[in-house]
Amino acid sequence: MAQLELDDLTKVFQDGKDEIVAVDGVSIDIPDGEFLVVVGPSGCGKSTTLRMVAGLETVTSGQIRLDDHVINDVKPQDRDIAMVFQSYALYPHMTVHDNMAFGLEESTDMPDSEIAERVEEAATMMGIDNLLDRKPGELSGGQQQRVALGRAIVRDPEVFLMDEPLSNLDAKLRSQMRTELQRIQEDLGVTTMYVTHDQTEAMTMGDRIAILDGGVLQQVATPLECYHEPNNQFVAGFIGEPSMNFLDVDNENGTLVREGFEYPLAPEIADRVAGRDEVVLGIRPGAVEVEHTSAGDHRFDATVDVVEPMGDENTVYLLFDAWSDDNALVATVSGMRQIESGESVVAHIPEDAIHIFDGETGEALHNRTLVDEEVADVTGD
Ligand code: ATP
Repeated sequence: MAQLELDDLTKVFQDGKDEIVAVDGVSIDIPDGEFLVVVGPSGCGKSTTLRMVAGLETVTSGQIRLDDHVINDVKPQDRDIAMVFQSYALYPHMTVHDNMAFGLEESTDMPDSEIAERVEEAATMMGIDNLLDRKPGELSGGQQQRVALGRAIVRDPEVFLMDEPLSNLDAKLRSQMRTELQRIQEDLGVTTMYVTHDQTEAMTMGDRIAILDGGVLQQVATPLECYHEPNNQFVAGFIGEPSMNFLDVDNENGTLVREGFEYPLAPEIADRVAGRDEVVLGIRPGAVEVEHTSAGDHRFDATVDVVEPMGDENTVYLLFDAWSDDNALVATVSGMRQIESGESVVAHIPEDAIHIFDGETGEALHNRTLVDEEVADVTGD
């Protein structure tokens, strides 16, 4: 078992005369046994980070440490790290058994009987023990992915690295494999770095999530901390589906203002945003209340633009009547509720659920107020 530390890790690629900073000073401590999900949009440097840890990419500066040993210059095969790729990377001419045994046969002097025992054990764990004599071409995508995972498990490594391992699977299989992978990782207790661009995978699988944008680490925290207490507007918009609503507003002495829109802030929130003239008001779709009464603060006349029934919920796109542009607010309401396009409603944006970000830097100035149980959830108490 191992603790993995990335310390100011940087990777610069040379593209002709241009320099591409793919990973920019990323520092993360991953304690022994943790499942860390690295997430971010395409090109944010996730795979490059993982490939540096695997030893498949050189490090421009910074350190990678495994249990306090710097491994920057250790050869990939000597790192005791197993990587699972999106493409499965199985040898087509070998049977499942041989694919799983290959790494151990090549890199250790373990007796054949012990290798066979390990392969059997990992195959049983992955539910593919009945497929050991088949070749990859005779397997479904889901089965091939199980073999690729089984092959990593057989090596009994210090660290698992997984690069979008589920993205070639259909939605149902993906969600089933998500649960299974989590269970296996927990049972084995192997420190894991798992790369995905899918925020749902990050939310549901990670002990913690590391969110990257443009090679820069934006936040590393538990899924619920990232969701409720984002460091900045990027994290707030990336985590959560549908995404958080953002409204550009001016801060006029503690009232958020826009044409036909006035949102007075309680003094303690106003204090936090004092001195920032341009800010962004954020509210999660699930926190917007779609009502019919306009009595009270923080309520705005709106018209239902589009309704998307999702079963349990309806996703409702609202247009503010007072706004000349087509800026919409997304709300989620119960799927049982009858709500129709063109309906006049009142959008209530409760003050205890709002976030406020700096309009220039995106820094979170105020995050929603959590009630006691929510705080306990977020902090894991
Ligand atoms: P995706 O989700 O699309 O796989 P990613 O977050 O994994 O993206 P990386 O593959 O790590 O992103 O790439 C980060 C940046 O580095 C991108 O701008 C990419 O174009 C660049 N890059 C990656 N590999 C190389 C390379 N070998 N030479 C030059 N630039 C590269």
